[in-house]
Amino acid sequence: GQSVIGFIGIGTMGLPMALNVVRAGYTLKVFDLSEKALAEAKAAGATPVSSVAELARTSDVIITMLPDAPDVEKIALGEDGIESAARPGTLYVDMSTIDPGTSRRVAAQLAGRGIRMIDSPVARGVENARAGTLALMIGGDKATVDEAMPLLSTMADTITYCGPLGNGVAMKLVNNFLSAGIVSTVAEACAIGLKAGLPLDMIVAISGATGTNNAWMHKLMPSKAFLGDFSPGFMTPLARKDQRLALSFAEDMGVPLTLGKAVFDLLTQTAEVYPREDFTSILRVVGDGAGV
Ligand code: NAD
Repeated sequence: GQSVIGFIGIGTMGLPMALNVVRAGYTLKVFDLSEKALAEAKAAGATPVSSVAELARTSDVIITMLPDAPDVEKIALGEDGIESAARPGTLYVDMSTIDPGTSRRVAAQLAGRGIRMIDSPVARGVENARAGTLALMIGGDKATVDEAMPLLSTMADTITYCGPLGNGVAMKLVNNFLSAGIVSTVAEACAIGLKAGLPLDMIVAISGATGTNNAWMHKLMPSKAFLGDFSPGFMTPLARKDQRLALSFAEDMGVPLTLGKAVFDLLTQTAEVYPREDFTSILRVVGDGAGV
């Protein structure tokens, strides 16, 4: 029969992703600290379990979709975690956005017990999680990745193999670094222009010259943020976490950064003022500061 899948971390993204796994006909066990999330998953046909260990013992494939690197480390290697409970041969797919260093450390430790790991962070948002149209960036042994493909295809329509383990999250951090940098630059450029009395449509049209880029022209500009709606989406504290992970990853490799630090500071400021809003609220923080 079909493999038993265990899904840990059914939050904003994890729950809709898990529901697509159930819809595809897999037997799904779920674990989360939130009773509400477990109840919702149960109503959709998943089986809640009461511990990571129980889930790990009884699953052929384990997926995690957790907030940050320490969460993954704890669930994978901590007391009664995946390392101590999963059977040898189990496939572990971490879909959280963490750093390559943590991914590689966790994978090496799990390999000691015959547990195979791939990193498969996700891009795009919660709407895509619902529709099963996420974009995945995957690192790991190619044959292991191929084995996971039918399962991963239930959640995504765009899947890129990025190379050895850790390269999926490396690619994801590069993408989010770009995205945060573009939003920050757009925010400051617009603040200068608006303060100077240039109308927004003119700024947009003329910026289609050398200032053009896909995120600005096709995603940010038509987005709800420009209508003053900053509901998440992708909340600023998560964007700030990704910027922090990218900065320390770069530092570890000896890549000096200046812009990245400024963007991190802007995200920190934005997270303090609007902690539960979409990270495009950078536009609002910069606009407020400029009085536009
Ligand atoms: P979230 O905080 O909504 O969900 C995380 C879930 O993990 C929560 O339900 C929480 O209860 C659970 N959890 C935390 N610690 C746990 C533990 N020790 N044991 C069991 N469950 C635990 O976060 P999210 O928005 O779903 O994001 C998850 C990951 O995906 C993050 O790394 C984020 O950066 C990344 N991501 C998010 C988006 C987005 O648009 N929200 C998009 C792409 C990637």
